[in-house]
Amino acid sequence: MSKIAVYPGSFDPVTNGHLDIITRAAGVFDQVIVGVLQNSGKQPLFNMDERVQMLKNVTSNLPNVIIDCFDGLLVNYCDKQKATVIIKGLRAVSDFEYEFQMALMNYKLSPHIETLFMMTNSKYSYLSSSMVKEIGRLGGSLDDLIPPSIMTQVFNKVNDLGR
Ligand code: ADP
Repeated sequence: MSKIAVYPGSFDPVTNGHLDIITRAAGVFDQVIVGVLQNSGKQPLFNMDERVQMLKNVTSNLPNVIIDCFDGLLVNYCDKQKATVIIKGLRAVSDFEYEFQMALMNYKLSPHIETLFMMTNSKYSYLSSSMVKEIGRLGGSLDDLIPPSIMTQVFNKVNDLGR
């Protein structure tokens, strides 16, 4: 039976930190479904189509990675996709408390689904989508923070906001 994992997040926009986790997870699981969250509570800068399209663009070399979006409970989405593993990336201790609580809650809701944490690559431990938007808006370089193929799109979007 193939092992399917879901990697959920806002990906507003996808960063090299996300891509590192996706690539490593794709080496471990038969299939990785990147689930873009519709109901995150945060108002995203990039709409759902843009976030999905950027993820498709940067993962096009990974044949066992699928990009999708979802709404509602993550464990229900995993069941629908026949996924038995949730992948989360951990950057710092500050991520830990919230992720620990979420993992325990998801386990209570669906004990047949495991949450697995992957440590960030140390190069990306400081990297978040909000940092990318902030740096881009302030005119800083996004080299090494996001993949080159989405550079122009991200730069244009964050700067349109300031006008
Ligand atoms: P953010 O807006 O904080 O960048 P997302 O909601 O899009 O994050 O994050 C999706 C998942 O990716 C979460 O599990 C998060 O911990 C993880 N993640 C985000 N950035 C990194 C990074 N630089 N290294 C490793 N994991 C990360």
